[in-house]
Amino acid sequence: MPKYKIAIVGAGPAGYFTAQALQNSATDDLAFDIDMIERLPTPWGLVRSGVAPDHPKIKTVAKVFEKVASEPGFRLFGNVELGTHIQLEDLTSRYDAVVMCTGSSIGKKLGIPGEELPNSLSAAEFVPWYNGHPDFASLKVDLSGSTAVVIGAGNVAMDCARMLAVEAHELDTTDTADHALDTLHNSNIHKVFIAGRRGPEFAAFTAPELRDLPKLEHTNVYINAEEVEAAHARAEAAGEIEKHLASNLEAMRLIAESEKSENRKSLEFLFSHKPKEIIGKDKVEGIIFETPEGDKTVLCDLVISAIGYHSLLINGLTFDNGRIANLDGRVVGTNIYTVGWAKRGPSGVIGTNKSDASDVVKILVEELGEPKNAGDIKDVLHPEHAVIDQAAWSRINAAEVAAGEALGKPRRKEVSIEKLVRLGSGS
Ligand code: NAP
Repeated sequence: MPKYKIAIVGAGPAGYFTAQALQNSATDDLAFDIDMIERLPTPWGLVRSGVAPDHPKIKTVAKVFEKVASEPGFRLFGNVELGTHIQLEDLTSRYDAVVMCTGSSIGKKLGIPGEELPNSLSAAEFVPWYNGHPDFASLKVDLSGSTAVVIGAGNVAMDCARMLAVEAHELDTTDTADHALDTLHNSNIHKVFIAGRRGPEFAAFTAPELRDLPKLEHTNVYINAEEVEAAHARAEAAGEIEKHLASNLEAMRLIAESEKSENRKSLEFLFSHKPKEIIGKDKVEGIIFETPEGDKTVLCDLVISAIGYHSLLINGLTFDNGRIANLDGRVVGTNIYTVGWAKRGPSGVIGTNKSDASDVVKILVEELGEPKNAGDIKDVLHPEHAVIDQAAWSRINAAEVAAGEALGKPRRKEVSIEKLVRLGSGS
């Protein structure tokens, strides 16, 4: 029976769903050995370092990932960085196919003056900071001021705004990184704006996320009801309102009508606010927006832009519009494929990667030739290199969960790579 070796680069949702699709494609006449390569000592990608800590239900998909990892023929190579410890050519020459599931980790820039001021951050830094990604553990986040502005009308902007606008004690029982929780407990921020550059009818938020906002116990959430009505009228005039838009506008109307209490913290939506300039002498002091009524300055102490992502460039691959150049997931003329945000850009929810992976794996399977039998990643890695394999990751996972249990949290994340590797080795 032909047995193929497949390398998957990136242990996030796209990577695991690709592995799962390969496992599901196996038959009595077709088998796969899957090696998953991940730069961090911890897998799960955005499920660990993207999904907001106060959304634990979304993270339960990790159970599916662990099931995939427990199947025969699956090996994890964590703490192995493409471009440092191995090169793309090392993989393409040894594996029958290489699937790039490397996501898009770089925050898009606003491209306006003042963007580089201290305390003007990208969600691509702020989100992994509160989620304990080792690369961002020492990010400087100054929450000593009273007001924050989050730019973007998408779910990432909403996550950032919510993390700033809830009372820190509400996060005590989540897996928010210790350093972020400490900073949030000392935060003076009590006014959070979330600014979309177009009207409510164009917002990229999804209805379930909007519907959660009136449930916040310690935060008043404001949306201008007249603006939502006007957006509804405009959308209606433009043709039949699509279901998802109707549902979004209804969720916004419920926010506008939601009861406000004596809460110290507020979260307020601004629409038709196009960022023009971030102002400040030594750090952020405000932001100027272009609005239909003319320029408007919002004084603030922190700006977070959550306006989308593009992929980090990888040697040996061509990038197009922030993604790996590909045709339906194939990198034409190679044995390289791509799935997830690296393939299609930063869109969709975690589950979107499941159908994406199965579409690409279908093509991959059709294009397989004779098995190469040309070795694997172990031929290239230094024998002393501290690979985090599935057993090592299970030790890290168990240690984090145990440390969290004592504090009533789902886990207490370790953020130092060195300590993670030590935990993995069992010492
Ligand atoms: P997104 O949904 O594409 O939203 C990006 C927002 O940034 C849009 O409102 C866009 O406005 C705005 N924007 C872009 N360039 C801008 C600029 N120069 N100035 C001002 N605004 C600008 O992206 P995202 O929020 O990063 O989310 C990525 C994906 O992850 C989405 O599919 C999202 O649903 C998903 N996600 C899901 C969840 C969840 O389900 N809980 C949580 C987080 C993320 P325009 O429309 O005007 O371009």
